[in-house]
Amino acid sequence: MSSVDSRALARQLISGNQAKGEKATRKSLGANRKPTASVTPIGRSFDDHPGIIALLAINQNLDDKKIDNPYFKAWSKRKGSRLLIDNQWKINFSSYNYLDMASDPDLAEAAKQAIDQYGTSVSAARIVSGQIPLYEELEAEFADFFGTEDALVFISGFLTNVSTIGYLFNEKDLIVHDALIHNSMISGALMSGARRLNFSHNDAEALDKLLRIHRNRHERCVVLLEGVYSMDGDFGNVQPIIDIAHHHNCSVMLDEAHSLGTIGKTGRGAQEAMGIKPDDVDIWMGSLSKSLGSVGGYIAGSKALIENLRYYAPGAALYCATTPPASAAAALCALQKLKTETWRVRKLQTNFTYFLKRANELGLNTGISEGTAVVPIITGDTNTALELTTRLNKQGINVQAIFYPIVPDGEARLRFFINTAHTKQELDYTLNKIVENIKAMK
Ligand code: PMP
Repeated sequence: MSSVDSRALARQLISGNQAKGEKATRKSLGANRKPTASVTPIGRSFDDHPGIIALLAINQNLDDKKIDNPYFKAWSKRKGSRLLIDNQWKINFSSYNYLDMASDPDLAEAAKQAIDQYGTSVSAARIVSGQIPLYEELEAEFADFFGTEDALVFISGFLTNVSTIGYLFNEKDLIVHDALIHNSMISGALMSGARRLNFSHNDAEALDKLLRIHRNRHERCVVLLEGVYSMDGDFGNVQPIIDIAHHHNCSVMLDEAHSLGTIGKTGRGAQEAMGIKPDDVDIWMGSLSKSLGSVGGYIAGSKALIENLRYYAPGAALYCATTPPASAAAALCALQKLKTETWRVRKLQTNFTYFLKRANELGLNTGISEGTAVVPIITGDTNTALELTTRLNKQGINVQAIFYPIVPDGEARLRFFINTAHTKQELDYTLNKIVENIKAMK
């Protein structure tokens, strides 16, 4: 990779890409959409919006079945693997706090110091409010961690995908993605206006066929995939998909939201677990809200990519206030701890390997999960999943039910996020209760 002088590049970007920046703005305002041919105007009320109709149906079903609403559950304290809910310390499987960083005293101290020094907000987009050294330090750590030229931090992981993909690609481009990629990447693809095609999950051959037909009809083409898939807990088929993408002259974006800190001997994600080289992926993406106990997202890659996003991606520096100082300080502290406290990764991996193995021994359906921090227990039927989560909650276990349309119809599940702080006793207790309840519900 060549090194680029950032100021010269910025000048070039400002003149050369002005039009594209404006176009991105118009696009985000929806100014380029044509009106739909024939519609019946709807009035001011949102009471009959499809979302609220669906929600009413879900609530009615919960009432009919006498199942507690499992969502937006109020909790008041966190300690390691436990959450204080209704005055009971429940074993928690519902947050992505994989490495138990979110209640770590060092992260809390770093966050408090950042508040004392910089306040609770930088109060505008970075391009306007200026830099604080914390952002540069965090971005340098990410670039060093992934072996890339540069990195950029965004205020949310979701927005990182939306704004990066939405900004980089346009109507002449092609976005090809694994069928199971996260909604944030799809939202970015929709915002970009590029043509979007998907290939069946992890199927490199299907990708190859698709690119043979469609690649040459488009300017840029990017292939989107994940290191670990968050609904099923299986690994991405990363290297074969990268090889096909490169063969067809496409760039690659890899979302490591669930692989950073969780896979590879020391938690270095796909690079360590699958031998992916820094240059194999053009756009390294991840979230700060999972293994790093904070909130936000990052992109790591070439100097040109990052400088472009830094100046123009709506949601990075433009039009959007950035990560609060406390969150940047917490993420920086977590990233440094990830390098030194490798026991966290080892303990997490011991825990999830045990949980999956024991679940299978007990005859539970874990789908295609293959030894990651996400382990689904598939019940199939939505009401079974909802009833199971209610029963477990009463027995001191906090876990979420997921069902259609988030996962395919008939594949409702409880999704367990395993944590470094879970003890073997907690995992055994949980698995035994699942088995007991399933039997009792038959
Ligand atoms: N990518 C993936 C694969 C995710 O699962 C998520 C959220 N769970 C995101 C991106 C968005 O990250 P965040 O929640 O930190 O905004």
